[in-house]
Amino acid sequence: MAIELSTEETRVLDKAIEYGMKNFAPNVQRWETEGRFPLEAFRQTAADGFVGLLVAPESGGKGYRFLEAALTYQGLARSSAAMTLAISTDSNIIYGLSQLSKAPGIHGLLPSMINGSAILTYAFTEDGAGSDPGSAVTVATPVAGGFRINGRKSWATLGSEARYIQLTAKLGDSSRRDMINLLVDTGSPGLAIGENYNKTGANLLSTVDLVFDDCFVPDERLVTPDGYRAAMWGIGLARIFVGAIAIGLCEAAIDTTARFLADRKQFNRPLLDNQGLRWKLAEFMARVEAGKWLVYRAASLMDKEGKAPLEGAMAKYYCANLAVEVTDLCTHFFGARGFRTGTPLELMAREARMLRIIDGTSEIQLEVMGKWIDGKYRNASVSA
Ligand SMILES: Cc1cc2nc3c(=O)[nH]c(=O)nc-3n(C[C@H](O)[C@H](O)[C@H](O)COP(=O)(O)OP(=O)(O)OC[C@H]3O[C@@H](n4cnc5c(N)ncnc54)[C@H](O)[C@@H]3O)c2cc1C
Repeated sequence: MAIELSTEETRVLDKAIEYGMKNFAPNVQRWETEGRFPLEAFRQTAADGFVGLLVAPESGGKGYRFLEAALTYQGLARSSAAMTLAISTDSNIIYGLSQLSKAPGIHGLLPSMINGSAILTYAFTEDGAGSDPGSAVTVATPVAGGFRINGRKSWATLGSEARYIQLTAKLGDSSRRDMINLLVDTGSPGLAIGENYNKTGANLLSTVDLVFDDCFVPDERLVTPDGYRAAMWGIGLARIFVGAIAIGLCEAAIDTTARFLADRKQFNRPLLDNQGLRWKLAEFMARVEAGKWLVYRAASLMDKEGKAPLEGAMAKYYCANLAVEVTDLCTHFFGARGFRTGTPLELMAREARMLRIIDGTSEIQLEVMGKWIDGKYRNASVSA
């Protein structure tokens, strides 16, 4: 991996920054206040080629590398972390389907997903199974020609708009983690979509419960019988992109705050004259640079080796936590203005907290790293 971006990679990042500034930034406060997913804007973003980036060109995608996709999300997140999360979540599901299933009943749907006409949601979490999704109890019972699904999933992002659900469910009476992965049509009889949750942030994204009551899914919609592993693989790659989104959010927060501090005067001089304030921004700048390279390294490893569980966990942990810290202090640097709702920093601070939870909380990332340390050192001889 090169230790600087190529001209082409820089172009990918710049294009995404420019696209977000033009299409998301002017609208993001309104979308958030309305608490409604901007479907038309999303479809336009898909039409402009930002959905399904990783999917191979022969299946209708752009064939981007992971690094290029991460740069795209970093760039878009400068304008809206929530909208970028919608794009990356939807795209990750599409990419997963393209990798996991060649069945015509699934593969044939990819173009409609990539062009944004069919939105996807992902259903793994349950009320009783969050950090430990292997304990989920929603069950797929084999019946003639398919499966009957019973149970309740929670926290399905874009669940109100989705045309399809990628569902991970326990197979019959099987043991923990013995799960299958199915593609469920949201129009299926026996499926009810719950009320959109009110959340602390990212209210432009719908988040809902999905209730399955003897919902039939035909055999041809079986994505993979190895559902738990497939789900964890999908979450593994999503973590890298959450890191990229956190970096874009930090960059936006620092940029907005530096401009404000340069402009606002107290004691007859710009606030940016105060060393205490600008040193903090300088420290954040250095840490964002470090986080950025954790993300790029994890994405590059995905490109090279097809997996990066440890590096992805480090990138997600470091960048999501950093985003919470940066947006909190930057909000404070706005003084009372930062305490008002509907201001850019206030919105960013609320979104940052979400990044620390989705696709495995910060503690779960520490667990991934801790297990690696355990595996390496538990039985190693100690040399002084
Ligand atoms: C905005 C948003 C969108 C989401 N979208 C989706 C989606 O589309 N599809 C989907 O399936 N899920 C989705 N989720 C769910 C998300 O993946 C879970 O919320 C997350 O995995 C945490 O689970 P939990 O909320 O049940 O927390 P819990 O597992 O109950 O954890 C509570 C607290 O305990 C800590 N904790 C748990 N276990 C340990 C441990 N072993 N060691 C130390 N600390 C621990 C956690 O870090 C956390 O701080 C979404 C969540 C959010 C906030």
